[in-house]
Amino acid sequence: MDAVQAALISHDRLKPQFVEWVIRHRHILQPHTLFATGTTGGLIKDACPELNLTPLKSGPLGGDQQIGALICEGNIQALFFFIDPLTPMPHDVDVKALIRLTALYNIPTALNEATADRLIAGF
Ligand code: PGA
Repeated sequence: MDAVQAALISHDRLKPQFVEWVIRHRHILQPHTLFATGTTGGLIKDACPELNLTPLKSGPLGGDQQIGALICEGNIQALFFFIDPLTPMPHDVDVKALIRLTALYNIPTALNEATADRLIAGF
């Protein structure tokens, strides 16, 4: 696949699993331009400093909305978002809004590891 701009997000409970997933696929992700919410991005940068990754605000502070704005502007072509379906969150409405925008703009979106494996296989 030509270089794409992809967004990476994980809710707290899934972060260890997500960072492991990124480490496993870092060679595939390396040529691409990556954006992430703040805490997720910091963990990925620590684990894989070679990746071209820009951390935005933390999700609860507006990071999901920043990624939504990038989608609206045509600057994201894939979203990897390990969501936690078992934990109530203060920014639940932001998460819902982001997922709505991925549907609206037809952005390939992985909300769990099985789908992320399929999506990254197309990179
Ligand atoms: P975080 O945000 O990477 O800053 O934890 C993710 C989220 O909760 O949406």
